[in-house]
Amino acid sequence: MEPAKFEGGRLCYSPFMPAQILDGTKIRSEIFGELKQEIAKLSGQGIRPGLAAVLVGENPASQLYVKSKIAACEELGMASWLHTPAASATTEYMLQLMRDLNADNNVDGILVQLPLPAQVDSKRVLEAVDPAKDVDGFHPMNLGKLVSNRPGLVACTPAGCMEILRRYKIPIEGANAAVLGRSDIVGKPMALLLMHANATVTICHSKTRDLPGVVRSADIVVAAMGKAGFVQPDWIKPGAAVIDVGTNKVTDPVEAEKLLRNFPQRLERFRAKGNALVGDVHPDALFAAGAISPVPGGVGPMTITMLMSNTVKAARLRRGKTSVVAG
Ligand code: NAP
Repeated sequence: MEPAKFEGGRLCYSPFMPAQILDGTKIRSEIFGELKQEIAKLSGQGIRPGLAAVLVGENPASQLYVKSKIAACEELGMASWLHTPAASATTEYMLQLMRDLNADNNVDGILVQLPLPAQVDSKRVLEAVDPAKDVDGFHPMNLGKLVSNRPGLVACTPAGCMEILRRYKIPIEGANAAVLGRSDIVGKPMALLLMHANATVTICHSKTRDLPGVVRSADIVVAAMGKAGFVQPDWIKPGAAVIDVGTNKVTDPVEAEKLLRNFPQRLERFRAKGNALVGDVHPDALFAAGAISPVPGGVGPMTITMLMSNTVKAARLRRGKTSVVAG
């Protein structure tokens, strides 16, 4: 493939050769098909995997996330329960709710939608979740297992990124991987998963020197910074695989123009709607990378998919008759 050239900020490419699209929606369908089979098997043992979602207060974005998680449970024929404590809920109230859900044998997964209101000690609440039901993979016990590469429940977004890489057969072993971002829920677990898959991993953050140079040497780039279009196309090693975790709502027309100038249809939609969802990687990287996950439609659909997968796994490990040890 001939790499794209950038002249005066605009793309010049000949012949036109965009990257392979790493389609998260397609992988979600594949995984949902596999999960339905596993759920049918568990049903034969009298087990119906179930997820309890806890949504505190009335944050519209959180309400939307939880709604789609419950809808996914319904699509798969799993049980789900929605607990909606008031925005004034105390830490004690939340801890008691966690104890109740831990004790309920029908509940395989507990999902506490973040953020919690300021008066609630989020860390204490998350640590009160039974690690065997911690389908978000946030409990220190599960994080510890991930560090030492032992089977456990892994945070959904990085687990979803690994599924994308594996199902598209992107070579990981021996690859140089750059993970941009070191949060507990994305960057750190992502780096560990890639390292356990035998990549050589560089973890980057806001104090990293020469970020473009690090990215240029990477065969795999995972961007999880929360900065719209930050990773420039000319940082990408030609042919590299790029996983874009970022989900940034762009509302500034000037910014949208800069980011979407080579995507007239997206720009058109931005003008009609007044916003566009853009990843942490500049959309023009499509013409530099070998493979790239789009935003939207890449990592996004994988997060809920892995939540469902973790819930089925938790049900199998906790209640299944066959003892399955594998992760
Ligand atoms: P976060 O907790 O805000 O962490 C951002 C990380 O990026 C930090 O480690 C920060 O470094 C690093 N960073 C910020 N600016 C940087 C720069 N200029 N150069 C290098 N590193 C920089 O974010 P998060 O929760 O991990 O989420 C990251 C993005 O992924 C967000 O856009 C979020 O919306 C998205 N996300 C998407 C999904 C999904 O399902 N698609 C799920 C989760 C998150 P420091 O540590 O030095 O501050």
